[in-house]
Amino acid sequence: MTDYPTQPTASHFVNGAYLEDTTGDVIDVIYPATGAVIGRVHAATPAVIEAAITSGRAAQVEWAKLSRREQGRILLRAAEMIRARNRELSVLETHDTGKPLQETLVADATSGADALEYFGGLAGSLTGEHIQLGEDWAYTRREALGLCVGIGAWNYPTQIACWKGAPALACGNAMVFKPSETTPLSALKVAEILHEAGLPAGLFNVVQGAGAVGGALVNDPRVDKVSLTGSVPTGQKVYAQAAAGLRHVTMELGGKSPMVVFEDADIDDAVGGAILGNFYSSGQICSNGTRVFVHKSIREAFLTRLAERLEGAVMGDPLDEAVNFGPMVSEGQIAIVERYVAKGIEEGARLVCGGKRLDKEGYWMPATVFADVTDDMTIAREEIFGPVMCVLDFEDEVEVLARANDTEYGLAAGVFTRDLARAHRMVAGFEAGTCFINSYNDAPVEMPFGGVKMSGVGRENSKAAIEHYSQVKSVYVRMGKVDAPF
Ligand code: NDP
Repeated sequence: MTDYPTQPTASHFVNGAYLEDTTGDVIDVIYPATGAVIGRVHAATPAVIEAAITSGRAAQVEWAKLSRREQGRILLRAAEMIRARNRELSVLETHDTGKPLQETLVADATSGADALEYFGGLAGSLTGEHIQLGEDWAYTRREALGLCVGIGAWNYPTQIACWKGAPALACGNAMVFKPSETTPLSALKVAEILHEAGLPAGLFNVVQGAGAVGGALVNDPRVDKVSLTGSVPTGQKVYAQAAAGLRHVTMELGGKSPMVVFEDADIDDAVGGAILGNFYSSGQICSNGTRVFVHKSIREAFLTRLAERLEGAVMGDPLDEAVNFGPMVSEGQIAIVERYVAKGIEEGARLVCGGKRLDKEGYWMPATVFADVTDDMTIAREEIFGPVMCVLDFEDEVEVLARANDTEYGLAAGVFTRDLARAHRMVAGFEAGTCFINSYNDAPVEMPFGGVKMSGVGRENSKAAIEHYSQVKSVYVRMGKVDAPF
């Protein structure tokens, strides 16, 4: 590792301490704003994976013996420490992902702290139930699953580590977390802070590596649950592997979500929602509303206001807090976006702005808007995962709902209208796990988050996550004699 400020001191965090094994493949840590290598980690070797799994399993047995309140107190302490170190962690997240500091200061470590705070607070109230059965009775115990594996995407490395780690730990589990090899740094800091806050060694281990390391974890028979945030193809692979061992899964996968703007919408709010839902984090957000259906009668007004608001995008040094639009995460990802832009032009969409990579070091793609997009175009069907907004026209509610749902994905959907009955009707009709009315992409920890159809299985955040990190054991208690036939 280089001496970059706040960098973790080794590649892995296992059994309560940083761990290095330089025999693992080298993974360069690249700062997306410049393309410079700012650090180096090593992929986990079989020995590191073994240490992570054995220490996780051993620690979990002891952890599950603590009262939930004691467990929760540690998570609450970690949340406080993360908030206190928010700036340092945000700078690290900016180096990991390239996202502007203006954004990471409010959206990453802070939302990780929210998750630790929420599940830490909830831990003490996770109970089973009592069921009276005449004189006999039954009760249920809400028990941990055991050892959970978390696998993260590169867009929100701190948040994903916390969204998976916090409910897992609050339910009495241990976790081995594998960040994306593109953004290996931030999760190590989460592990470091959790243990500084008093988490017993082994309960939250971080190991580096690409798909092969993820695969080794998912296939290990000692693993009880897998939670993946990633693309649909990876989700299909990981889900199938987990199914072979009948392991529990949570799959947070991709999307091509619709945002519908009716003629009575507040145009500025709708434009604001479309900006948040397409250009925040340079468009690298799974729930983005990338198919923006705008009522034909307001299309030009919408595009005009959008163009005016896009003047406010400031690209530049992500560490400058005046900058609000950062680079894409990697050469690979910007190349994917460039291919989609070319495809959009080739298939006849109207390029309104952007679409051309900046001529500078790093991976800079400006806000890109296509109008006159039709449902069958590749850019309207496939997840691009970059700053590309597709604007489509529509004329009536029934038509737009059918078109909005005409996708294999079902992660999110949004509607902008002043007609609240229509808003609720639309939301009831959306085939999506997470919906927004006159808003887009809010994801407070109190609200379940997740997808339907090909966008995933299970829910993160909120009380719903508890169901996915714990299991119920039923206990029948007979009070009288056993009445057997012979
Ligand atoms: P990938 O699917 O490429 O990777 C996700 C994670 O899985 C990475 O850590 C990756 O490792 C790992 N992985 C890859 N192959 C395997 C395998 N065979 N077994 C186990 N693990 C494996 O996604 P990206 O990182 O490119 O992230 C972008 C995708 O994530 C988008 O589709 C986006 O929509 C989705 N996403 C979904 C979210 C949600 O909550 N629904 C939130 C954020 C993103 P490595 O990358 O190191 O190879």
